Amino acid sequence: MTHWLSIAVSTPAHSGLEGPLTYHAAEPLAPGSVVRVPLGRREVLGVVWGAAEPPPPELAAQARGVAGTFEGLPPLTEDWRRLIEFTARYYQRGLGEVALAALPPQLRTLNGVQLARRLRRRAAPATEDTPETPETIALSEDQTLALAEIGTQPGPFLLFGATGSGKTEVYMRAARAALASAPAAQVLVLVPEINLTPQLQARFAERFGAAAVVALHSGLTPAQRLAAWLAAHLGQARIVLGTRVAVLASLPGLRLIVVDEEHDPSYKQQEGARYSARDLALYRGKHGGARVILGSATPSLESWHASAPAAEGGVGRYQRLAMPRRIGAPTHGADAGLPRVRRVDMTHQPKGTLIAPPLLAAIGERVARGEQVLLLLNRRGWAPVLHCADCGWKSECPHCSAYRVFHKIDRSLRCHHCGLSQPVPRACPACGNLDIGTLGRGTEQLQEQMGELLAAIARPDGTPVRIARIDADSTRGKGQLEAQLAQVHAGEVDVLVGTQMVAKGHDFRRVGLVAAVQPDGALFSSDFRAPERLFALLMQAAGRAGRDVGSGIASEMWVQTFHPQHPLYEALKAHDYPGFAARQLSERAEAGLPPFSFLALLRAEARSQQAAQDFLGAVAEAAQGMEADQVQWYPPVPLTVQRVAGIERVQMLLESPSRAALQRLLAACRPLAHALRASPAHRAIVRWAIDVDPLQV
Ligand code: ADP
Ligand code: ZN
Ligand code: ZN
Repeated sequence: MTHWLSIAVSTPAHSGLEGPLTYHAAEPLAPGSVVRVPLGRREVLGVVWGAAEPPPPELAAQARGVAGTFEGLPPLTEDWRRLIEFTARYYQRGLGEVALAALPPQLRTLNGVQLARRLRRRAAPATEDTPETPETIALSEDQTLALAEIGTQPGPFLLFGATGSGKTEVYMRAARAALASAPAAQVLVLVPEINLTPQLQARFAERFGAAAVVALHSGLTPAQRLAAWLAAHLGQARIVLGTRVAVLASLPGLRLIVVDEEHDPSYKQQEGARYSARDLALYRGKHGGARVILGSATPSLESWHASAPAAEGGVGRYQRLAMPRRIGAPTHGADAGLPRVRRVDMTHQPKGTLIAPPLLAAIGERVARGEQVLLLLNRRGWAPVLHCADCGWKSECPHCSAYRVFHKIDRSLRCHHCGLSQPVPRACPACGNLDIGTLGRGTEQLQEQMGELLAAIARPDGTPVRIARIDADSTRGKGQLEAQLAQVHAGEVDVLVGTQMVAKGHDFRRVGLVAAVQPDGALFSSDFRAPERLFALLMQAAGRAGRDVGSGIASEMWVQTFHPQHPLYEALKAHDYPGFAARQLSERAEAGLPPFSFLALLRAEARSQQAAQDFLGAVAEAAQGMEADQVQWYPPVPLTVQRVAGIERVQMLLESPSRAALQRLLAACRPLAHALRASPAHRAIVRWAIDVDPLQV
């Protein structure tokens, strides 16, 4: 007897085929079964979505059969399939594309026999187990209160905890309780960056035993990723730590999801299905019966707004739990153990000052005492632009609307957008002037100049100051970042220069002073989220200072600014996130921006600006009249970096007070855009995409 099945496969995006396809099989196959099926001339992986209606006879003759199954691999659960359906629908992508992207890539290359062999090997656990350790430390008052709520209320929770307030301890205790609630219970902990997983994995493994904990992220080898995915799917992993991809992992026993640093932009996927792992975590928790804890010292304004207590006239959708004090700080009074924030007014400094004298003196003192200093500059390379004072030539990239950055280390001019790298010219390419100079500063230059500025300072043992740099350039090789971080932890570095990479989450024990060298740029950005991001970054950076409160070091965060009275810095000085958030939210409410409205972007890329604009214009025209009273269309505009690698980029903003109306419109626009793209008039379009709830507008 023939069984008709609808099976999700990853069809090419441009094919316009987005739902599951119909196949037949000799045996019934449960929904969620992973199978191999023919697609065109290839054989691909698919997921059985359910039974299908038998096709009409003329089509039935052409229908193809399931080519292989995976014995011993339990079907993916109903909850997982609902999550995938929601993700595909909400982010406007194909079901099969999302489903298959959530499976480990190596599964595609295995047949049933090969997978069975791996499954047998899994039966004998590979990881050497370590014993669990019981909780011994006494919780702080804030931690106790937070955990009492998490234990008794449904959530979702926003754990608003200062850096060093002991959020991780709360996650671990909540995980312990969740695991105890059912024999097969599982916990998912999301972190924004791969390089934050090793530290956290060590902490969880120490507490719960190494065999119970797996990491799942895109930095694993294909074999490791398959092993981690299987451990989660088979329930062998009780705790899964991962980056955004892990939110779509199969976790049949999921009872708790933690999203640490929930405000972090890395949770938003920037290609393919542009999902927000934080938002999907909330969906998954709600529909899959798992509690959700979002944690941050500087929550996203969306989460802050959603957690405003109903008693105060707020939305009250999430429950806010506050832990304002650092572990080790006095339990009452003004001193919460947070670093003192000092602003240096750069308008009083000579033009071109890199480090103002009072800051330099403070750095010198710290280093001479054997403390570490962290200097933050969000620009890598030596100088962002090379230029000729005679003729005005600048190091523009020939393929992008951006300047190439001067890297002194290998004397190259490199475009950070398309990767083009060329030797630095000896003379101005336009006029031959030999005296070409740089504009602005990057981390390479800061590192070099700190060496000169601190040349007269000695460490406590009389040896010279050691200055290191961590940025995307210094950590390109595998294991380089880990090695460099280890050096910092081991106290082999006195001054660490870095980009935002170093501001996130790392637990540097001996840092007494953190300084933001040149943070003003974001204050006047056209991106409405720029202040929110700057505030979070600076609070996070401040959070690196003085984490070891017991050491007796009074820690400091310095900010060099031309706008010391700016409300953002005033709020930073007072460690006043709520005040900052209230001001931002009232501005957003006035301007009708998220969280008071919903946004989506239609993006297009083409060889010419005109072609990209025409395409988006045509989509808007085709959709004219739809949801007209609910959704506002803005005209197509070039992106901030308009051209990358010779491709022009255009976007069109859609805004609506109603999420549902915006969703309906986007769903209707998709087939229109597919059809237009296929028409000869728009042959110049390289690609187009929909970005729902975009972060950068
Ligand atoms: P956060 O994640 O909020 O930045 P952590 O959870 O990393 O903070 O906690 C900061 C430090 O305080 C860690 O070294 C942690 O082990 C320690 N810690 C957490 N809770 C307690 C507690 N109740 N008593 C003593 N130390 C604690
Ligand atoms: Zn010139
Ligand atoms: Zn370029």
